[in-house]
Amino acid sequence: MEVPKIMADRLTTEERSELMSHIRSVNTKPEIALRRALWRRGFRYRVNVKGLPGSPDIVLPKHRTVVFVHGCFWHAHKGCKIYHLPQTNTDFWLTKVTRNQERDQEVWRQLEAKGWSVVIVWECELVKAKFEGTVERVASEILEDGNQYRIRQQERRTAREQRRQERKEAEARRLALMEEISLL
Ligand SMILES: [Zn+2]
Repeated sequence: MEVPKIMADRLTTEERSELMSHIRSVNTKPEIALRRALWRRGFRYRVNVKGLPGSPDIVLPKHRTVVFVHGCFWHAHKGCKIYHLPQTNTDFWLTKVTRNQERDQEVWRQLEAKGWSVVIVWECELVKAKFEGTVERVASEILEDGNQYRIRQQERRTAREQRRQERKEAEARRLALMEEISLL
């Protein structure tokens, strides 16, 4: 979310913190536009899923993938034109966005541990000029993640089936041996 810099600098730290927390929690217009574009391409999803780490903005169960739309200021997008640390209370903001970055990474680790792939979309990638390209990128990442997930699932199934087969063979060998012994 773009921070109106001049205005933000006139606020007290508390006021600005309040403002920022509101900016962060709303369903932003670019995010809704992204969702709609994905829907038009046939993707089906759930939004703001509370049961998953970080309450991802867009969840695509079929592809085992979540999408986060990150505000460039709030999540400190590196090298971004929108993201500037305010000139006043710089330390305060630095601490805050650093904490957010750490939290983002932790959420990402937790999701991956549960087998979810994570796609990050920066707010500045959703401006009109970049929108279609971003949708293209996100769509192909989701499909790729989904494919990888299905491959992993298939490998797991194959390994399970192989173990079952090996157990069966071991049991057959054991029975054959028992029979042999009893015939002696
Ligand atoms: Zn950005």
